Amino acid sequence: MTNEIKEYDVLGIGLGPANLSIAIALEEQAQKSQLSYCFLEQKPHFEWHGGMLLDGTRMQISCLKDLVTLRNPMSPYTFVNYLHAHNRLNAFINLGSQHPSRLEFNDYLTWVAQHFSDLVHYEQKVIDIQPIEDDNGEVAKVRVTATNQYGEKTVRVAKNLILGMGGAAKLPEQFKGLEHANVLHSSGYKMWRDTHLRTLPSDAKLAVVGAGQSAAEIFVDLCNQFEQGEVHMINRRFALHPADDSHFVNEIFNPEFTDHIYSCKESERQSILNHFSGTNYSVVDTEELHAIYERLYLQRVTGKGQHKYLRCHDIQETVNKDNKVSIRLNDRINNQQNWQDYDAVILATGYRYDGFNQMLSKIQPFMAVSPVERSYRIPMTKQCHVNVFLQGCCESSHGLSDTLLSVLAVRSKEIVDALLDRKSAKPKEALSA
Ligand SMILES: Cc1cc2nc3c(=O)[nH]c(=O)nc-3n(C[C@H](O)[C@H](O)[C@H](O)COP(=O)(O)OP(=O)(O)OC[C@H]3O[C@@H](n4cnc5c(N)ncnc54)[C@H](O)[C@@H]3O)c2cc1C
Repeated sequence: MTNEIKEYDVLGIGLGPANLSIAIALEEQAQKSQLSYCFLEQKPHFEWHGGMLLDGTRMQISCLKDLVTLRNPMSPYTFVNYLHAHNRLNAFINLGSQHPSRLEFNDYLTWVAQHFSDLVHYEQKVIDIQPIEDDNGEVAKVRVTATNQYGEKTVRVAKNLILGMGGAAKLPEQFKGLEHANVLHSSGYKMWRDTHLRTLPSDAKLAVVGAGQSAAEIFVDLCNQFEQGEVHMINRRFALHPADDSHFVNEIFNPEFTDHIYSCKESERQSILNHFSGTNYSVVDTEELHAIYERLYLQRVTGKGQHKYLRCHDIQETVNKDNKVSIRLNDRINNQQNWQDYDAVILATGYRYDGFNQMLSKIQPFMAVSPVERSYRIPMTKQCHVNVFLQGCCESSHGLSDTLLSVLAVRSKEIVDALLDRKSAKPKEALSA
């Protein structure tokens, strides 16, 4: 069954922090323009990385880099106002940290999302975007199809799109096609833990693949759950590396740095991205690193515990064996190959941010062959008047802050400004209905 619904000036795809920040910017900046807009979110309700909302995990960014403060500190949607509204401002100040728990930041984001609930359609997974061509081959609108959990489709027409779909789980080649209830990506960890963990024996043998913050958090969590068990953290590299959040380095996440990196030559930009990748990729917070090292050290003191950090280990192949997952590992330090049988394997192997290509494949013929604009808009051919803005997939042109929270508040202003500029510059291809 397919429902045809109404037409919007702007459709936001996904409702994570990026489009939530856009919702605020539209309310605060575009009131007079009377744009009609809504957001489509595949989940049944707002949740920020629910699979990793583990006790004790903290934000890796100052809470002042919330959805709006850097654009409009007087907005009612700041983190500080959230604390004030919940009568916790003094207590939060007393905590003495700008890095709240992820649990609290998720609560803040959910509180903001509730303010916009009239504009959000949950359980709407966008599966198709089609250009609507008129008789002259001009495209002023697109048809967006979304589906709910029962497979019922709803079609909405939009004149502009703002994508904020986040990343999709990245799986190592060796695990593709391996069907096993206890092999999962970190993004589904908490749900799996709440349902499957108790089915495992207390001396279970488990593996965490990866070397970043999620891998570290899951390793610690599993070690806590399975004191009698054996948890292996498998890493290709020699060491776990600390995340560089030192003062000068952190300035690459300032909104003005986006201007700098965007204007660099390709080779220079690439070198900046490589040079600073240790702020975000395959790195672990120093506190977590220390906790892991100390835990493994204590095992040596007490002679109790079998948790291990497997360094310089490459995963060669995987097979399903007697309800276990068998992994062939190449230990490059000892130059040995060996098979390890695990009750469960958690792949904390990161995300890919190229889902927009597939999502926009049908309007691809109308895209101009030039880079994404500074305003995050995809340049279009002359026949296409639909504006498509990308969030979270412009790291290669706009820098490392693109997939993070750092520039959300300012980026949403830049996108909404560009949308409104185009509206006043081109009344005919209008945003208004
Ligand atoms: C565990 C974890 C912790 C993190 N902590 C930090 C941190 O402390 N600081 C920081 O700066 N960054 C952090 N990040 C990075 C993270 O990407 C950002 O915090 C933020 O979530 C990015 O927001 P987003 O809206 O772009 O993407 P997301 O938060 O991923 O939101 C995208 C939304 O789009 C929806 N969606 C996707 N496809 C569709 C579709 N086809 N149809 C409808 N809806 C769709 C998804 O369901 C999701 O709700 C963390 C990431 C993870 C995984």
